[in-house]
Amino acid sequence: MNLQSFARVSLTQAPTPLEFLPNLSRQLGGPKIFIKRDDNTGLAMGGNKTRKLEFLIGDALQKGATHIVTQGATQSNHVRQTIAAANKFGLKTTALLEERVSNAHADYYNNGNVLLDQILGATIETRPGGLDMNHELIAVGERLKAEGEVPYLIPGGGSNPIGALGYVVCALEIIEQSKAMGIEVRQVVHATGSTGTQAGLVVGLQGSGSGIDLLGISVRAVKEAQEQNVRKLARGTWELLNLPGEFPENSVKAISDHVGPGYGLPTDEMREAVRLLARTEGILLDPVYSGKGFAGLIAQVKNGAYQPSDNVIFVHTGGSSALFGYRDIFAE
Ligand SMILES: *Cc1c(COP(=O)(O)O)cnc(C)c1O
Repeated sequence: MNLQSFARVSLTQAPTPLEFLPNLSRQLGGPKIFIKRDDNTGLAMGGNKTRKLEFLIGDALQKGATHIVTQGATQSNHVRQTIAAANKFGLKTTALLEERVSNAHADYYNNGNVLLDQILGATIETRPGGLDMNHELIAVGERLKAEGEVPYLIPGGGSNPIGALGYVVCALEIIEQSKAMGIEVRQVVHATGSTGTQAGLVVGLQGSGSGIDLLGISVRAVKEAQEQNVRKLARGTWELLNLPGEFPENSVKAISDHVGPGYGLPTDEMREAVRLLARTEGILLDPVYSGKGFAGLIAQVKNGAYQPSDNVIFVHTGGSSALFGYRDIFAE
């Protein structure tokens, strides 16, 4: 796969580890569960947006940008990692935080990623929930242009074909690492939101001919919409990479049984999943994405989706800094 032709900066300490989870696997009594530690990508507390930003910031620099403009929810991990990446390359950042979760605890609006955004030092603007955030991004870009800046717009989650290339890279790492460990992978499972992670992974897994099965656990959209959105971005990424033939559409699979009342809103099974992984393996998940994704994996195991001899990989996409924004639901 020809990834060398794309502009790219170095932000991660790749490959991130692929680790076996012996205590958790034993406790669940199901398949052997492995974890791909993309919470350890290494930039300002890490997470999955960092891999995407290697290509997005590379592209921004190539285009002569002076100012990154992006958006996310109040507790966005993407915004935190984007500001950190931009700082490293001398770019300014304006970030729009959408108040997607209403009536949350004060920590949600002030602690966790919000605090880290303030320390990292971007221009932060807030927006009420429910606006067309892409439209808001474009408007800010126009304003900055008028002020003499060269803006570079990064969509929510860094999810466009350029950003998704970061997860094509991760898929290739997973293939190589599982080969080196001598394991045949039954399925890769992860939390899916703005779709760049799943689109990149599925293109990497399919485009390389590995045929490894992938399942996204939605944290927001219903199954059909999520699959449709992932397919659209995967097709665009497949084309950007000039891969032969058509993208295999049926390789995109998502479930939306673990969203609960909505994006960023806690569920009991998320809280149990976060505590279980912390207490068996000493690994911290997050309340918005990986906690719900992991709850989805646990449910799959309990519902008999795997054989005890199967090897299943959970991609830990990061986000534990958001735990501090959710202190009230974890405090004992
Ligand atoms: C953004 C994010 C995801 C979802 O990735 P997408 O590429 O947006 O689908 C999962 N986990 C964490 C911690 C995230 O911040």
